[in-house]
Amino acid sequence: MQRYDIAIIGAGPAGLTAGLYAARDLMKTVIFEKDTAGGLIIQTDVIENYPGAPEDSSGFSLADRMRQQAVDAGCTLLYENITSVEKTGEGFVLSSAKEQYLASAVIIAGGSVPRKLDVPGEAEFTGRGVSYCATCDAMFFRGKVVGVSGGGDSAVKEANFLTRFASKVYLFHRRDELRARGEVRERILNNPKCEIMYNRTVEKINGDMKVTSVELKDTVTGEISELPLDGIFVFNGFVPDTGIFRDLVETDSDGWIITDERMRTNVPGIFAAGDVRNTVLRQVVTAAADGAVAATQAGLWVDENGGKM
Ligand code: NAP
Repeated sequence: MQRYDIAIIGAGPAGLTAGLYAARDLMKTVIFEKDTAGGLIIQTDVIENYPGAPEDSSGFSLADRMRQQAVDAGCTLLYENITSVEKTGEGFVLSSAKEQYLASAVIIAGGSVPRKLDVPGEAEFTGRGVSYCATCDAMFFRGKVVGVSGGGDSAVKEANFLTRFASKVYLFHRRDELRARGEVRERILNNPKCEIMYNRTVEKINGDMKVTSVELKDTVTGEISELPLDGIFVFNGFVPDTGIFRDLVETDSDGWIITDERMRTNVPGIFAAGDVRNTVLRQVVTAAADGAVAATQAGLWVDENGGKM
């Protein structure tokens, strides 16, 4: 069994920063990633609020620089899906379909996944008009009409981005006021290619080979109407990607992991960082900061508990 001082689960900004700090702390460190390194930011066209990032810094390029920096510092990055974590007398045993690994400390940095609409047609037309990533799919909707569900920063930012490609973008929000604030909100309110439909939820997605229309519910009157369009982008927030940890560490009622300010969970030796935490702000900068704190604290824990491999 391969042995590590610190095992990090998830290679988004929190996990990659934790990897950088842990490796620089001379901890033998591994990051496990089940998908693509970089996390949710690789789906963002431009990162505008990470201090020091160049104005035209795409999420992908920022994430890739973080990945390279962690690897250059000496951190091992393995593309494996960890399916269980067990506490044993020797440390934590992490299992993937391929292999088992032993680690003295674990940092959970698995982030979150998009909240689905959960309506008829959504699963059927995913990849055929239903999308959760504007950066990935916007180019397929050049000159077409698309809808966006949600009223938060993601929905508004991505709706703005989609207007570069689509001829018209409808934004469906379930309330009469956007959740998004500040500059992103001002931008969408002044975007002539976007029509905001307040008090609307998407109830059904229709199509044949591809999406052709959505059925919308007026949340005030209850009235249902059909709107023809070519695609629907879902940005209804996120849910934590904590499936395998729910029985291991304490979470809140929505599944976000509870930590103290040192990123410690209720299980000694297990830390959590980034979006997966029960936290007040989910941004690249907070994920990176969490990762740095978690790695530093995990390193101290390894030293104090004599668990260095
Ligand atoms: P969010 O802030 O949780 O917003 C989710 C939106 O979806 C809300 O408008 C919510 O409506 C709506 N919604 C949730 N469930 C729904 C349902 N079942 N049916 C219809 N609508 C539903 O999520 P987010 O916009 O993805 O942002 C997540 C975090 O990332 C936030 O902290 C945000 O600030 C941050 N972020 C920042 C940026 C940036 O550029 N700074 C960009 C993207 C995200 P209600 O408003 O009625 O609750």
